[in-house]
Amino acid sequence: MTKKSVVIVGGGHNGLTAAAYLAKAGVEVTVLERLSNFGGAAVSAQAFEGIDARLSRYSYLVSLLPQQVIEDLGLNISLAKRRYSSYTPIPGSTKGLLVDNHDAEATRESFEALGAVDDFVAWRNFYSQTQQLAKELWPSVLSPLRTRSEWRANSTDAAIWERFIERPVGNAIASDFSDDWVRGVVYTDALIGTFSPNQDETLNANRCFLYHVIGGGTGDWNVPIGGMGAVSGELERAAISYGAKLVSDAEVLEISTSSQGAIVRYRSAGQEHELKADLVLANSSRQELTKLMGGKTETVGSQPSTSEAYPFGAQVKVNLLLKRLPKLKDSSVTPEAAFGGTFHINESFEQLQSAYELASRGEIPNPMPMRDLLSLTNRPKHPWC
Ligand SMILES: Cc1cc2nc3c(=O)[nH]c(=O)nc-3n(C[C@H](O)[C@H](O)[C@H](O)COP(=O)(O)OP(=O)(O)OC[C@H]3O[C@@H](n4cnc5c(N)ncnc54)[C@H](O)[C@@H]3O)c2cc1C
Repeated sequence: MTKKSVVIVGGGHNGLTAAAYLAKAGVEVTVLERLSNFGGAAVSAQAFEGIDARLSRYSYLVSLLPQQVIEDLGLNISLAKRRYSSYTPIPGSTKGLLVDNHDAEATRESFEALGAVDDFVAWRNFYSQTQQLAKELWPSVLSPLRTRSEWRANSTDAAIWERFIERPVGNAIASDFSDDWVRGVVYTDALIGTFSPNQDETLNANRCFLYHVIGGGTGDWNVPIGGMGAVSGELERAAISYGAKLVSDAEVLEISTSSQGAIVRYRSAGQEHELKADLVLANSSRQELTKLMGGKTETVGSQPSTSEAYPFGAQVKVNLLLKRLPKLKDSSVTPEAAFGGTFHINESFEQLQSAYELASRGEIPNPMPMRDLLSLTNRPKHPWC
């Protein structure tokens, strides 16, 4: 019997994972990646000339990689737990909100110093609800997708389902917390990866929020030692070791299908080539796939008025490499603790809404909401980036 053949369009970490699993199962796999390296947005790079440190260039923290994938594919990946979840300095004061995952009392004191001790109780209650949701939803990430109504019918707590899935999550946050800064810290998890107002009736913010709180069944986010490139690098190694063929500098131009299978046309080294396959997997965006299949898409940068418009965003990431951490005005917190988690700047609930409104009108928010995340590099000489 001849082997089944699969072409994967794009060699991001998801394409590499699919390639490794399929090759391990005996399928003939070819990955076509338009860039000269694999890993997509999960890569490390030497971002600064002359400084031998590799940073996670885009994506930097790991939460949604199931342990089972690591074991199935024999990946050698080290993930460091973060003791501190976040620190939020309050502008115009010497105070800040520190969330310490290992010390509930220190966290309570931090809420109290802000005058928001009631929000500490609400915080614990809120996240015990998201943890319950995580325990139910997380095991499903390796199973066939269920529909929303199937999930709803099996949900163990209808009230939790309603507030996190059916209604804008911003409503739950506004009703549970009273402090504007606390509300903002919670809501950022609904915004990283989307562009939404505080009451987002489209529920895009809920989807984004859910992905931030279900990882590993706990919602913990860990730092990959060696940067994200170490994770993708292991997936690349595994895919090759199981026999997948990985082709870089190969941009897929068209996919055509017939009852006999598919033909993938791609460009490599200035020449066009064709590959036949029984099956094609797309590790590209849905819009790119529509284009490759001959459908119509809107141009990059246009308003996303239809689902076939290329997405565009209002977020920028700046990579920094520091020899030492900045000093803080808040003497109750060490810079190591404050920068050990996510450092929120100008991200109160009201500031996030105002930034959304201004950015929607094409204006640059002032002050600009920012978040700062440290990750460890594989160079102990330059540990902060
Ligand atoms: C700045 C930033 C920070 C992020 N931070 C995090 C984080 O900390 N943690 C986290 O979990 N997620 C984070 N994300 C999201 C995460 O990076 C993505 O969810 C993830 O990279 C998606 O992986 P993927 O393999 O599906 O796609 P991608 O990484 O987008 O890879 C797709 C690949 O397909 C290739 N491709 C596309 N079209 C073609 C074509 N026609 N022919 C050939 N190749 C093609 C692309 O070049 C690319 O290499 C972040 C994203 C960004 C942008």
